[in-house]
Amino acid sequence: MVDAHRTFVIVGGGLAGAKAAETLRSEGFTGRVILICDERDHPYERPPLSKGYLLGKEERDTVFVHEPAWYAQAQIELHLGQPAVHLDPAAKTVRLGDGTLIAYDKLLLATGAEPRRLDIPGTGLAGVHHLRRLAHAERLRGVLASLGRDNGHLVIAGAGWIGLEVAAAARSYGAEVTVVEAAQTPLYGVLGPELGGLFADLHREHGVRFHFGARFTEIIGQDGMVLAVRTDDGEEHLAHDVLAAIGAAPRTALAEQAGLALAGPETGGGIAVDAALRTSDPYIYAAGDVAAADHPLLDTRLRVEHWANALNGGPAAARAMLGQEIGYDRIPYFFSDQYDVGMEYSGYAPPGSYDQVVCRGDVGKREFIAFWLSEGRLLAGMNVNVWDVADSVQQLIRSGQPLDTEALANPEVPLESLLP
Ligand SMILES: Cc1cc2nc3c(=O)[nH]c(=O)nc-3n(C[C@H](O)[C@H](O)[C@H](O)COP(=O)(O)OP(=O)(O)OC[C@H]3O[C@@H](n4cnc5c(N)ncnc54)[C@H](O)[C@@H]3O)c2cc1C
Repeated sequence: MVDAHRTFVIVGGGLAGAKAAETLRSEGFTGRVILICDERDHPYERPPLSKGYLLGKEERDTVFVHEPAWYAQAQIELHLGQPAVHLDPAAKTVRLGDGTLIAYDKLLLATGAEPRRLDIPGTGLAGVHHLRRLAHAERLRGVLASLGRDNGHLVIAGAGWIGLEVAAAARSYGAEVTVVEAAQTPLYGVLGPELGGLFADLHREHGVRFHFGARFTEIIGQDGMVLAVRTDDGEEHLAHDVLAAIGAAPRTALAEQAGLALAGPETGGGIAVDAALRTSDPYIYAAGDVAAADHPLLDTRLRVEHWANALNGGPAAARAMLGQEIGYDRIPYFFSDQYDVGMEYSGYAPPGSYDQVVCRGDVGKREFIAFWLSEGRLLAGMNVNVWDVADSVQQLIRSGQPLDTEALANPEVPLESLLP
């Protein structure tokens, strides 16, 4: 069938969905492109929601992927504020919340993830917050400003990236901040015990209190207001507001209902896709946070909840939908900013996968690169306040060759010279 008579539908208007729509057009697709999103806002980027926008340094209109007018110019048909509630792979249709039935030739699921909820008494209190959407960030920005003004206390569940970035933002408003974390260091699942402590030190220097090895058991409130948080070791923390930052769950409901194959708990769930980002149905693709993809280089199935994966995965899925040969093998990459510390992390090295951590540069001054290795081969690297090295780090990971770790640790030796 000629392109002009085909309809490609994208469910999910985050970065992956918007970039997929853009790519369909830039690759010359002349058929209908329909983008469905349950949020009323045009597609936007989430990293500023815990950084510049939350800090009040970036304006609301800077977070959008495209100007609203772009969608009409590119002839992308938008259904905003409309959830896709039913998917019928046999009939190749998607039904929206308002009953509209949309037929597709190919479909992309880019439904992202949603914050995990605390399953304890008190989570329904008005002062308990999550951070995923622009509306959440708008609200939290006001909350942090008022906590700062009134010497109020924010207690955060979870010392992951979002918990720590919000802690930094809250301190900049002058709020009192306590972070409760089940592990013994922040960011344990990504950085392991060796480097997580550096982030604890950074935050302590800025006045954040940590309570490690504990979980929330109850949020105590009165008349709808938060008063305190109780933890499983019997402690109580004064709180005026609470942020639950305990991770995100992939939004797989539609895929599940349609009988698509899902990934197991080892990837944190998600829609199972091959290296071309195709699901178990040959006409349906998935990309971004929701997709658990076979990674040809890392030889494992991986679900990556990061900006760069949405930025690149959406376009890769669009190309695959157009029939191009795709082997999506990007090295996982993400970034974070906290106070005056910026970092980039490339690769994949969960605790247990590496046998050595090597650093080059000045760890004490927080200007260094950390490398996680297994049998001398580089699995991951994190550059902290050192820039323009992520490409080289990724090439070293990609090479799969054993490296001279002394040279790796020596800032005088250019990283490129270690490439085979
Ligand atoms: C506060 C915050 C800060 C972050 N900071 C960083 C960072 O510094 N660095 C980094 O690398 N990554 C960061 N991330 C992660 C990054 O933003 C995500 O990886 C990225 O947003 C994933 O894009 P996506 O398009 O896959 O999903 P999403 O952005 O979640 O978009 C999916 C969209 O689909 C919609 N949707 C879901 N189901 C349906 C349905 N049935 N019908 C219609 N619409 C539906 C959702 O409402 C949503 O709008 C951050 C995330 C958050 C929340």
